[in-house]
Amino acid sequence: MLKVGLIGWRGMVGSVLCGRFDEENDWAGFQPFFFSTSKAGESCPLAAARGASILDAKNINELSKMDILLSTQGGSYTEEIYPKLRAAGWTGYWIDAASTLRMKEESTIVLDPINGAAIKEALKAGGRDFIGGNCTVSLLLLAIHGLLKADLIEWVSSMTYQAASGGGAAFMSELLKQYQLVGEKGAQADTALSQEILVRDELRSPSFPCSVTKVPLAASLIPWIDVPWQDGRTKEEWKAMAEGNKILDRTANPLPIDGLCVRVGSLRCHSQGLTIKLRRPAELNELEELIKNANSWVRYIPNEAEATRAALTPAAVSGTLDIAIGRLHHLAMGKDYIGAFTVGDQLLWGAAEPLRRVLNIIISQLESEQC
Ligand code: NAP
Repeated sequence: MLKVGLIGWRGMVGSVLCGRFDEENDWAGFQPFFFSTSKAGESCPLAAARGASILDAKNINELSKMDILLSTQGGSYTEEIYPKLRAAGWTGYWIDAASTLRMKEESTIVLDPINGAAIKEALKAGGRDFIGGNCTVSLLLLAIHGLLKADLIEWVSSMTYQAASGGGAAFMSELLKQYQLVGEKGAQADTALSQEILVRDELRSPSFPCSVTKVPLAASLIPWIDVPWQDGRTKEEWKAMAEGNKILDRTANPLPIDGLCVRVGSLRCHSQGLTIKLRRPAELNELEELIKNANSWVRYIPNEAEATRAALTPAAVSGTLDIAIGRLHHLAMGKDYIGAFTVGDQLLWGAAEPLRRVLNIIISQLESEQC
């Protein structure tokens, strides 16, 4: 049985990934080993580990014994460890949630409902690095998959509303602490305006907890994610076009994808408001059919108040593999412009699920070669 080393299983993405392994009984397909940068030597609490000791995630010798390493640990870990492993002669498969290696020529960004054929070709060609895409990019491509397949899109602008868990476990925990303080402050007044003033003062107080979120996120939002990049964009915003076109195999003829990325106070799920310029005018019923039938996870929500409130929110979509898309309508600019809104769980299809699926693809491929 293939040995698979898991690094990052304690984090947000890693925990969701292990939950999916439980649901799909994936553990039966490989021999798991659990690595950590902080818990080496302790007993692994996951049922699948059966009490095994946690291994040191910085020990190149232990890591090199694995056929496949799957890291959901983060970019700094990849930057430090991946080059050392390859320099030590490790030729195993590296699967990663971090962005570090995504744009390297030898890496394949994995989103198999869209680029499954490219993943298999890369494997046959000896590819060893399979990297999950940026969460908003993967969710966007799955949501508009039908329009992409029909080659109907001239450009897309996506305005994002990204959940706190996208920033990791510590980021989300700090937001919950902020909500608690905001709630306590609000309860000290009895009119809406005096509640707002008390909360505003609390948000501006130097003692308000913001060491991870940097500024208050509860009762507010932050229109900046990741580091400054180029032409006024943040790196998160740049990824949409760069990674999106790599997944679509359109780097020579790139589809313009651009917009602003905003962190909001939802806990889980990234939402996106879309403006799409079509290559030709199209009726809504044609677009609806294309969107609905593109893949098994897209859920088309009729552009009606009740359906939208019931099914097109982070509260409705969190914890599911659904890629909800709705609010579809023509914009005032003409019948070749549409607006839409999409919500997807960034910990599932935005992170863990493409990694889980590529792990199974690699295992099947290796097992079929051994037969
Ligand atoms: P995370 O929750 O911050 O976890 C990363 C690591 O932090 C854990 O594996 C753990 O490593 C350590 N850690 C320290 N304190 C912890 C605590 N209290 N609870 C759990 N873990 C703790 O990071 P993440 O959000 O899963 O992201 C991992 C990677 O996936 C990043 O590269 C990120 O960019 C990417 N990604 C994330 C998302 C998302 O929605 N969060 C989506 C797409 C891609 P040790 O066991 O070694 O201590």
